[in-house]
Amino acid sequence: GLDMPSAMKSAFHHYAELFLAMDDPYLRARHEDIRHLGNRLYGTWSGSRNNGRQELPDGPLVLVGGEVSVSDIAAVPRERLAAIACVRGSALSHTAVLANALGIPSVMGLGEVRGLRDGESVLVDGDTGRVFPDPDPALLATYRENAANEEALQGRLQELRNEPALTRDGERVLLYANSGLLSDISPGLVSGAEGLGLYRTEIPFMLGDTFPSEEEQFEIYRQVCEAYRDKPVHMRILDIGGDKPLPYFPLVEENPALGWRGIRFCLDNASLLMTQVRAMLRAGAGTGNLRVLLPMVSSTGELQRFHALLDDALAQLAAEDIVVNRPEVGIMVEVPAAISQLAQWRGYIDFVSIGSNDLGQYLVAADRNNPRVSEVCDRLHPAVLREIERIIVTARELNLPASLCGEMSSDPAAVVLLLGMGLRCMSLSAARLPMIKWLVRAARADDAAALWASAKTLPDAAGIRHTTAEYLAGLNLAGLPFET
Ligand code: PEP
Ligand code: MG
Repeated sequence: GLDMPSAMKSAFHHYAELFLAMDDPYLRARHEDIRHLGNRLYGTWSGSRNNGRQELPDGPLVLVGGEVSVSDIAAVPRERLAAIACVRGSALSHTAVLANALGIPSVMGLGEVRGLRDGESVLVDGDTGRVFPDPDPALLATYRENAANEEALQGRLQELRNEPALTRDGERVLLYANSGLLSDISPGLVSGAEGLGLYRTEIPFMLGDTFPSEEEQFEIYRQVCEAYRDKPVHMRILDIGGDKPLPYFPLVEENPALGWRGIRFCLDNASLLMTQVRAMLRAGAGTGNLRVLLPMVSSTGELQRFHALLDDALAQLAAEDIVVNRPEVGIMVEVPAAISQLAQWRGYIDFVSIGSNDLGQYLVAADRNNPRVSEVCDRLHPAVLREIERIIVTARELNLPASLCGEMSSDPAAVVLLLGMGLRCMSLSAARLPMIKWLVRAARADDAAALWASAKTLPDAAGIRHTTAEYLAGLNLAGLPFET
């Protein structure tokens, strides 16, 4: 009496629960295999429904939808994807984050799109967040000119590729790239990134019909580690949940942002995590540049459990005569509870990376995906900035390398404030990296410190934005596409 997916789900759930109830830990862990089989069967079934999928029309494409998923983005060849426009979501949604990493203009949270039909031309302005269906020739001409200027500017910025990000008063800043698809690996290198500051492993997981096997993951991670051979690669363990669902592993929760996410999900699905950690360790063995990053850590127990699993993974590989090194392990500081525990965690972690996208939403209790509260979830909110400063200062006291890998690192206003707080490592979209490098080289760290000292006395984001914009204007960076 059930529809097909519900019947499959209930049958597989039944058998998975039987395994889960077993005493023997090995057999108990096999419940994951049952789930994998279920996912595979579901994937085959849903794939067969999609066989009639339309071919892509010719020419550059704009994806428009209520939501545009990561797999929608991946289904279009990068060179053909001109822009994205979504009715829902906000600038911190994962669709926007991925689009930014790929350098694709995108507009989120449109509310509605009037008068747009399939196959029609549309103009998408990612700087101002506007979408113009069927634009008239005059508007098109203006935008064509803007686009040509932007391209010329990017060409000039590219000349800095091999120059260091050094402020005018000699402070060295490390600029890493964020990535998650194999297709966005090379843009990071081309733009002069000094490492991968965040490799979001959930993106390959979001593209398939089932959990990728150890071999499939190994192959992807190996290519990532090799591409960045002499540079650090910070690979994050699976961070699904929240607004990053897996199509083949539906999670129904009242409040997903506060639910079974990141390391919580991974530790509760130990066989999945073991598969991933083994694939990562093997991938990093040849290059020695792997660092493992843990998302959503909120308690000491999570770190202890992760290290125990890492020990097991190392022991398993040693028993199989696979030589790997113990990688450095760090955490995303994105749950506010992490901040006051950093000192206690020093023995478990080698570095921290500030996840300002989530940290911001949890500090001000405003959903990062909800356009209605995007003004509340402002990256220049004084409380968010002060907490970030607290993390930077604490990390310095603990001799703990710190970086920031949220979208703040792509925003010039936030970048000068972070410089002023003393941060010297940021990880960002490859497409924005040349522009941020230009900004760092035009700024003075002591001026940025003075700017932050005065900005932190201001009562709201609007005041901080205004003061920072004045500072940026004084840097004479005319022509840069600043969105502050
Ligand atoms: C963050 O939260 O700032 C972050 C970098 O991770 P994600 O955007 O993938 O949650
Ligand atoms: Mg996060």
